[in-house]
Amino acid sequence: TYVVTENCVACKYTDCVEVCPVDCFYEGENFLVIHPDECIDCGVCEPECPADAIRPDTEPDMEKWVEFNRKYSEIW
Ligand code: SF4
Repeated sequence: TYVVTENCVACKYTDCVEVCPVDCFYEGENFLVIHPDECIDCGVCEPECPADAIRPDTEPDMEKWVEFNRKYSEIW
């Protein structure tokens, strides 16, 4: 699963949303999140993000962001 991290805050680009084949991006107050159960781990969004905010959850210290993405994508 890919997760959106802090560089996304106040980012005005939505290039990632447009390329996602399963539409699993959701909008928070001033950031986007990825629904962890809907993401198919294709990786297409990662290079599209100009803020470099999208990271694979396999990187170190991602627990906080995994939770954050889950929390805000399940509101909808
Ligand atoms: Fe969507 Fe693929 Fe990015 Fe997951 S990795 S959020 S499925 S574009």
